Amino acid sequence: MLLRDAHNRIIRDLRVSLTDRCNFRCFYCLPNGEPPMARKETILTFEEIAEICEIFVSLGIEKIRLTGGEPLLRKDVESLIEKLAKLKFQTSNSKFQILENPKSKIQNPKLKDLALTTNGFSLEKRAENLKKLGLDRVTISLDSLKKENFKKITGVDKLDEVLTAIEAAKRAKLEPIRINAVIVRGWNEDEIVELARFARETEVSMRYIEYMPLDSAHEWDRKLVVSGKEIRERISQVFPLILKESSRGAETAWKYAFADGAKGEIGIIAPVTEMFCGACSRIRLTADGQLRTCLFSTTEHNLRDVLRSGATRTEIVEFIQSVVMKKEASHSINGKDFAPASRSMSFIGG
Ligand code: SAM
Ligand code: SF4
Repeated sequence: MLLRDAHNRIIRDLRVSLTDRCNFRCFYCLPNGEPPMARKETILTFEEIAEICEIFVSLGIEKIRLTGGEPLLRKDVESLIEKLAKLKFQTSNSKFQILENPKSKIQNPKLKDLALTTNGFSLEKRAENLKKLGLDRVTISLDSLKKENFKKITGVDKLDEVLTAIEAAKRAKLEPIRINAVIVRGWNEDEIVELARFARETEVSMRYIEYMPLDSAHEWDRKLVVSGKEIRERISQVFPLILKESSRGAETAWKYAFADGAKGEIGIIAPVTEMFCGACSRIRLTADGQLRTCLFSTTEHNLRDVLRSGATRTEIVEFIQSVVMKKEASHSINGKDFAPASRSMSFIGG
């Protein structure tokens, strides 16, 4: 049984936000810090997250990405990774159950990919162990290679730590390593080429992301968006690129190789100027247990209450299926009546 929405898209990709909190203050995300913390009891426990993930995997979810806020701020995230990694080994005749919970019933599908998006702040020392526990790969955010600019963008003076984290992730083989860079006019578009050089030298996949209207300060302005086209052109002038595949499939990024054969990869994610909703295969779970069918949704669906009401597995599955059926055909950033998402990026889980 697969999760299929009303527009015939199959949902394969679950993003789980582990916390709303963050120790960075990226101006495009959480510039003024978090509002008073959500009540602790509203945040899903690791047992609840594992139970939900197991059900999603039984419904055909193949990729799970842990994100936030800063997911590594959540205490003992390692124990959750260990639980979720077991979803990669389920088989139809497995006696193995990740949870001692009668609602948990092992079915055929398996998790194929367990990933984590992090600002890298505390990754260096933890990378190796995370890999051992079953994390497949990491995406690390890096918007600038200049110390001062990094500090201006993120609010913290931690460029060296992030660069060290990238090295540690490489050593731990948390690969393919992706680096996310949000490009914003007047802030870091002058670093586009240097970031591509970094991708070549460190042999990572550099993902350039258009600035989206998801900042908590609501200061997004279309004039600040550097389009995917402009990013591609700026890189190509110095490092000619070859498109890897003519179609993105369910991927959000257009992927490019360097024409001269250098290692490393360029990915361009352009949700504002080159909408990719038609192939979207994602669903999101917030730290407080709300299902979101789109980054830009203005409504959420309270899975936490369903789970905590003692619902049977069948009831939980039916709830998830009914939510998936409500998945929006597309976002409307470019429409006249665009309404900002009900929560900002750090709460939704990027
Ligand atoms: N704290 C982690 C990190 O920064 O990697 C994970 C959470 S963060 C919300 C996930 C990704 O969302 C980051 O790569 C970040 O750059 C991106 N992001 C945040 N706000 C954004 C915005 N307004 N537009 C585009 N991307 C954004
Ligand atoms: Fe924190 Fe990540 Fe948002 Fe930056 S992008 S403020 S690191 S959650």
